[in-house]
Amino acid sequence: MAKGLTRRGFLKIAAGAGAATGLSPTVRRVALEPFVRPPEEELPGRATWFASTCRQCPAGCGIIVRVINGRPRKIEGNPAHPLNRGKLCARGQAGLQAVYNPDRLKNAVRQSGGRGSRVFQPIQWEEALVELTTAIQGLQDPRRLALLAGMPPDHLHAIWTRFLQALGAPPPLIFDLHTAMEGRAESAALAERWFGEVNLPIYDLANADVIFSFGANFLETWMSPVAQSVDYGQMRQGRLGGRGFLVQFESRLSATAASADEWIPVEPGTEGLVALALGRLIVEENLGRVGRHREHAHLYRNINVSDAVEASGIPAEEMMRLARIFADAERQVAIPGGHLAGHTNGPQAMDAVMALNVVMRRLGREGGLFLPQPVPAKRFAKPVLPSRFAQVERLIERMQAGEVEVLLIHGTNPVYELPAWVGFQEALAQVPLVISFSPFVDETAVQADLVLPDHTYLEGWGYQLVTPGADRPVISGQQPVMEPLYDTRATGDVFLALAARLGGDAAQALPWPDEVSFLEESSAQLHDNSVSAYDARTPAGFWSRWRQFGGWWSKRAIRREPEVVRSSRTAIHVPLPLYRGAVEQYPFHLVPYPSITLSDGRGANQPWLQETPDPMTTARWNTWIELNPETARDLGVDDNDLVKVISPFGKLQAAVVVYPGIRPDTVAIPTGQGHQDYGRFAAGRGAKVIDLLGPAAAGEAGRFAFGATRVRIEKVGAVRPLARLEDLDGEGRENIR
Ligand code: SF4
Repeated sequence: MAKGLTRRGFLKIAAGAGAATGLSPTVRRVALEPFVRPPEEELPGRATWFASTCRQCPAGCGIIVRVINGRPRKIEGNPAHPLNRGKLCARGQAGLQAVYNPDRLKNAVRQSGGRGSRVFQPIQWEEALVELTTAIQGLQDPRRLALLAGMPPDHLHAIWTRFLQALGAPPPLIFDLHTAMEGRAESAALAERWFGEVNLPIYDLANADVIFSFGANFLETWMSPVAQSVDYGQMRQGRLGGRGFLVQFESRLSATAASADEWIPVEPGTEGLVALALGRLIVEENLGRVGRHREHAHLYRNINVSDAVEASGIPAEEMMRLARIFADAERQVAIPGGHLAGHTNGPQAMDAVMALNVVMRRLGREGGLFLPQPVPAKRFAKPVLPSRFAQVERLIERMQAGEVEVLLIHGTNPVYELPAWVGFQEALAQVPLVISFSPFVDETAVQADLVLPDHTYLEGWGYQLVTPGADRPVISGQQPVMEPLYDTRATGDVFLALAARLGGDAAQALPWPDEVSFLEESSAQLHDNSVSAYDARTPAGFWSRWRQFGGWWSKRAIRREPEVVRSSRTAIHVPLPLYRGAVEQYPFHLVPYPSITLSDGRGANQPWLQETPDPMTTARWNTWIELNPETARDLGVDDNDLVKVISPFGKLQAAVVVYPGIRPDTVAIPTGQGHQDYGRFAAGRGAKVIDLLGPAAAGEAGRFAFGATRVRIEKVGAVRPLARLEDLDGEGRENIR
């Protein structure tokens, strides 16, 4: 190696030379050198483990990463972390493929051929910073700057909030399809309506003996699936003398429903009506062990159980049997899941489910419902939550009206994740400067002027307040387990550098030289705290322990009993769900559901996740549509037959999976495929179900009603075999290439 040139420097140059050819395949250069000057904790050939945080979804599981010769080789769950307790899901395991992905951007780039050209030229970070600084300084009005992000790590959200506030710009707007389909914003709004606090409730699955889950796929992607799976195992097997009982209400048999004792396939959108009817029966018949229900009678004023029977298809005697199962339990809990949020009656349906917990006096009780205890330090006091969909729509309106001059996009891919009817891509064309911070050229980066790639999470710093899922206050700490592979830059550092260049209020609001200093100072707020799981004599020692443990948490479980602020005199009313598409033309309910592997599409560029079979259908590497055997017979189709799925708003083609676990009047398609860009493993594969969706029904503007569209199915007359698990070398393998 040339004198004065470090190994890292060489890699930077090699990466830059490759990227100079644009996005065409780069020539790979390999520097073979002995590991002669490793960091002091590294011994050649010996593994070192670093504690950090998984960022494959917003749950914030603690990980430990096995590093050999400066390169991460394996990710495991952090056994000391109170959220996931040593466990990890398939997406967490696949995180190495974010770092080593061959399609990563290796440096900052400008789209020199214009937006959509996919012709990128490398630029220096200094040039990018000058351009961004000049653009912000040149704004007619600071409110013309906007930042749209997917659920970010909390430290980044804190930096952005300070930055934007100092400039007088609107706060960061948070949207991604994963959290939208979890109903995260709606869950927080539910807690606000009932308990006067915008927060995510904790459902104590481990200690419940009966769980009624209304559309919560809590063993798959909803909220904190690893922690919930551990708790669920405890509920099933962990207590002597009692095996918990799960009833799952949803129209499609999810992996969670498959693990339940009873699956109740209700018509999509009627889950809330069922919850309301169950509550009414419990109160009216004085069911259960908690005495009379007189104080809650007003919640169910004017409720007619037969309406729910008719809408949901659950017979009256079955409704009574279920009401008894729930009421007779000692420790029961009802969960309002993400599917509910996807209907026009979502908030009311969630109210009806929450009322079951209130009626059975499950607040603050073992096996019931809690609110998270805040972390005892100001900087960590509030959880980051997604914005309301109405705010996203408002941003798009402002973009369309030419009221946004600079748009910054991080950790979300709205051109792909938002349905076509929203018009995001068209609105983007009206924004003079669009900057993406994606490490990959995704569909949104293709519509940007500059792409300033953030590090991947195994290369970067951060922290994340864990909510919900843990039984105590937890902050997951993120630290680099390796040197960044390429000339990428932490987005937090980019904003700190910008603030310093802009000077004035921005520089005052963000005085830290880099994000590590911000993190270290933040951690010091917890030094000497009496509930810490560890402590140290000095803040510097405490910061060292923070990195060693992979964050901070309380040494004991602390949760709060929610206090009801909603008037028990206000009756709950769940209207019938409204759907787009007349039943005569579009006879089937469409259920788009988040893929357990690819999630909202963010995992589609990781081949391990593409290869992992869907647990219910064994399909992979493509998009499929699930049809009940009766429906398939009526349509004259079978497994692997191609069909057209047509809604009033779009159409797609997919191969059929004949699936007994779905209602005959309903079809289901997973999210995650149908990328045009996002690298070789994602692009040109399958179809995007989100584009079939339409706006919520009239009068329901501002709601992302992803479960409220009807479709029709047409036979194509061709076959496209899916790559199924049981068909390792079959025809389906051909279709994955
Ligand atoms: S649940 Fe989310 S954070 Fe936890 S391991 Fe899986 S992907 Fe990572």
